[in-house]
Amino acid sequence: MIEEVEQAVRLEEVDRRLITLTQEIAELPKHIAQIEKQLIGHLKQLEAEKAALAANQKERKQKELDVQAANQKISKLRDQMMSAKTNEQYKAFQHEIEFCEGEIRKAEERSLELMTASEPLTAAVKVAELALAEEKKQVEAEKASARERSVADQQAVLEAKAKRAELAATLPPPLLANFERLRKKFPKGPIVADATKGQCSACHMKLRPQYFEDLKRATKVMNCESCGRIIRYAPVVDQQAMFDGGTRVSMS
Ligand SMILES: [Zn+2]
Repeated sequence: MIEEVEQAVRLEEVDRRLITLTQEIAELPKHIAQIEKQLIGHLKQLEAEKAALAANQKERKQKELDVQAANQKISKLRDQMMSAKTNEQYKAFQHEIEFCEGEIRKAEERSLELMTASEPLTAAVKVAELALAEEKKQVEAEKASARERSVADQQAVLEAKAKRAELAATLPPPLLANFERLRKKFPKGPIVADATKGQCSACHMKLRPQYFEDLKRATKVMNCESCGRIIRYAPVVDQQAMFDGGTRVSMS
């Protein structure tokens, strides 16, 4: 490979690192926002479960009071019944007492229902509280590590940028201009593409046979005639032969 292409490859390696770092820096806050959103969702769920439990307990308390009030009313009615003067009056008291007894039965049935419902609810709240405490700890730890990562990434970006400037300064100006123009056209790369079996590995267009032959013996930087990327000749490597211990390179 000619030296200028190697220089372009080295510059592209730094660019690739910069792209990765920039992506990571952009992803970190998104990741944090996502885990925080999840946490808020779980917090709301717990609040809803706690509210349901509180409503259950409140209603149970009310049912107890209802039973108490109905019992008091019954004893009062029984006292009054003693002084009933007619059979009709007596029956009316009796009827009212039966009504109160019916109310007590209903309240007790409802209390039982509420008590049955409260057991899994209490357990769910307990489980959710423990899980949430654990999740909060995890979110805090992830936030701290994301902050550290972000600081390290920013530092790495500065270093990579300095390295890029240093490398760029060593490139012949026409090659650098060529590279930067391609960088704008292909922000995510690649800028330098391999040409194997007469084909550009980036745009997959076949090179003219003569152009490919010229590339094999190139002494200056050549660009793909279709996409314009800098191309370097990459012979077909016989993987099996490499595995066997020797490298057989075919000149196709
Ligand atoms: Zn191409």
